[in-house]
Amino acid sequence: MNTSQPILPGQTIGIYGGGQLGRMLAMVGRRCGYRIHVLSYESDSPASFFADQVTVAPDGDEKAFRTFAESIDVLTFEFENVSSQSVQWVPEHVPIRPGANVFWTTQDRIREKTFLKNLGLPIPSFAVVNRFEDLQNAIESVGMPSVLKCSSGGYDGKGQFLVKSIDQLDEAWHAVGARPSTLEAFVDLECEVSAIVARDVFGTRAIYGPIQNRHANHILDLSFCPAKVSSEIALKACSIAGQLSAEFDLVGLLCVELFVTRGGEVLVNEIAPRTHNSGHLTIEGFATSQFEQQLRAVCGLPLGSTEQVRPSAMVNLLGDLWIPTEPDWKQQFHFPETYLHLYDKPVPRIGRKMGHLTSCAASVDEAIEKALAARHQMAPNTRSGNLEN
Ligand code: AMP
Repeated sequence: MNTSQPILPGQTIGIYGGGQLGRMLAMVGRRCGYRIHVLSYESDSPASFFADQVTVAPDGDEKAFRTFAESIDVLTFEFENVSSQSVQWVPEHVPIRPGANVFWTTQDRIREKTFLKNLGLPIPSFAVVNRFEDLQNAIESVGMPSVLKCSSGGYDGKGQFLVKSIDQLDEAWHAVGARPSTLEAFVDLECEVSAIVARDVFGTRAIYGPIQNRHANHILDLSFCPAKVSSEIALKACSIAGQLSAEFDLVGLLCVELFVTRGGEVLVNEIAPRTHNSGHLTIEGFATSQFEQQLRAVCGLPLGSTEQVRPSAMVNLLGDLWIPTEPDWKQQFHFPETYLHLYDKPVPRIGRKMGHLTSCAASVDEAIEKALAARHQMAPNTRSGNLEN
């Protein structure tokens, strides 16, 4: 493949996946004059409303995938559960960015943790649990409390079980679906951060962050940047992201989620080889958004600046906010420098990511306060879900 040939406006970016990450990439692509072709298993997906062409097909539909791949100039992704079989159906002349090697490693927790360990990167101590009989030994080597996590298919805390006592082994094994898993030490967390790295075809890197993240019910609730961590911790987080991008020979974007322990250690939790929910605040808070950065990287163009222009905070808008009634949208327009993003998902459900709000301000505390207040004003009677402070 000739990496010196950039993909330019007028050419077609193929996006595998039709969710909100694909939608925000498609929005940038359309602004820049690219054609967008989305492949999604569902019709009327969030990304489809900004696409020139949409192919609706289940994963593994060879005919549909080949036709889709013939029509595009580059293939990129908005989720990581890409089947390696599909990627083999892409014609030689269409670059796949990031490459299949990255997905192969990050799709499976056992492979990912083993990869990180072999690189000597700091991670929570862990053991592989292939069958129930391995669990007892794993507990002996890792200790308790510890978290059993299924190796593939889990997200937002699903497929995880906190093991506090030896009596819970049976329950834990069934909670993760009785399948290959990792058991990892439960970390005494000071906070959680993420660092997002973009890497272009020439190996140049640009890094955002770290961004600090807070979860509610295992789902990201609030992200803000700058993170409230020391410059030493910030540097560690960013250098791990940079190192990972080089190890993978990444072309595209990668988010690394990290634990900061009370003892001041920085441990890698997981890697997502794509744009990330915690990076949504880059749209208004940074010189170049994570989505434009993805476009630049995968199209073989120079990366943009990752300079932060305003302290910023993002809150997710989950389906919970629709209970008992749809949020009162006009309320948030009273908040200056606060930006509403809705993903055009027709049915709100508890825990479903329906949109997000970003606030920018002179300080990060002000940005956090404003984003939380704007969300609260829109849905003051919401019953469950997001944190309010
Ligand atoms: P994960 O799906 O692995 O990202 O886990 C979801 C969330 O559960 C993380 O963001 C943490 O808040 C929490 N968590 C996961 N693993 C651990 C751990 N080993 N120690 C402490 N908290 C954890």
